Amino acid sequence: MNEFELIRRFFSAPRARADVVLGIGDDAAVVQPPPGCELVVTTDTLISGVHFPEGTPASDVGFKSLAVNLSDLAAMGAEPAWFTLALSLPAVDTEWLKDFSRGLFALAKQHNIELIGGDTTRGALSITIAAIGCVAAGAALRRSGAKPGDRIWVTGALGDAALGLALWQRRLTVPDEYRSAVVTKLSRPEPRVEVGIQLRGLASSCIDVSDGLLADLGHVLSASNVGATVELKRLPVSPAYAAVFADLGWMPALSHGDDYELCFTIPPACERAFNRILPQLRCNMSCIGVVETEAGLRVRDETGAPYPITQRGYDHFRSSP
Ligand code: ADP
Ligand code: MG
Repeated sequence: MNEFELIRRFFSAPRARADVVLGIGDDAAVVQPPPGCELVVTTDTLISGVHFPEGTPASDVGFKSLAVNLSDLAAMGAEPAWFTLALSLPAVDTEWLKDFSRGLFALAKQHNIELIGGDTTRGALSITIAAIGCVAAGAALRRSGAKPGDRIWVTGALGDAALGLALWQRRLTVPDEYRSAVVTKLSRPEPRVEVGIQLRGLASSCIDVSDGLLADLGHVLSASNVGATVELKRLPVSPAYAAVFADLGWMPALSHGDDYELCFTIPPACERAFNRILPQLRCNMSCIGVVETEAGLRVRDETGAPYPITQRGYDHFRSSP
């Protein structure tokens, strides 16, 4: 099978959007953004053995490659529209490609985002997706708007991806009833696209938790020139995490990352409006702390005492200690 047959067979998805003027097949794609909208553009690469364990089912790899990009669009409050796919493959494995495209398009369909082009090369397994979304001009959420007094919120639960990885690597066991939920959270994270869109005009800042809460909230605080206190007694963890809490402690939930939840700040003036939309968001929301003038991120344990931070988050280029 040559490159072009491969693209036709696995990546010519049904046309999903009327605003794709020219999709896969030419030198580049042409799209028609809605009038008055700004485009929000993001890209993320997944490398086998780094971003997903070798041997991860191909459909999960397809799903997650798009999910991490959708999560970035969600953090900006953008509505997903189009994406490209640059694939590097060690060999043409038709079973693998079939499953990969099934996982990829399942999520694409769910969010009405259309594949409009890409690149296919031979090399170590890696997947790069670039995703484009739309927001009304000026309405994108940013990291830089948090102000002292704003409350800090997170969606869902933190730490399950860390649990999923520990399970996969057989470093940990969890009660049977939780296994599949935890593995799914690692391999098929649900990007909080709808929440991000609803937060436009309400959140003063937003980020997705890809590198761990401490690191990612830290980015918001630096960009906004503020500090914060987070209270562990309010940190949301899943029943699975709670069941093995004695083995884990708080650090995986605080610093592991890969959870793809949103962390955002709500100013006092927007709190009532935010409370009104909460029931529509169909996602667990927890207020975990407050933004403060004093720089730095302080974590308090269940008794209110300072909690020692041993690791901040994942950094690909950090030199080993
Ligand atoms: P070029 O050589 O002009 O860069 P290619 O031969 O790489 O074009 O690709 C041909 C067409 O197929 C282009 O429209 C490109 O966007 C698309 N394409 C290539 N690889 C993929 C892929 N993995 N998924 C989707 N579209 C792809
Ligand atoms: Mg090419």
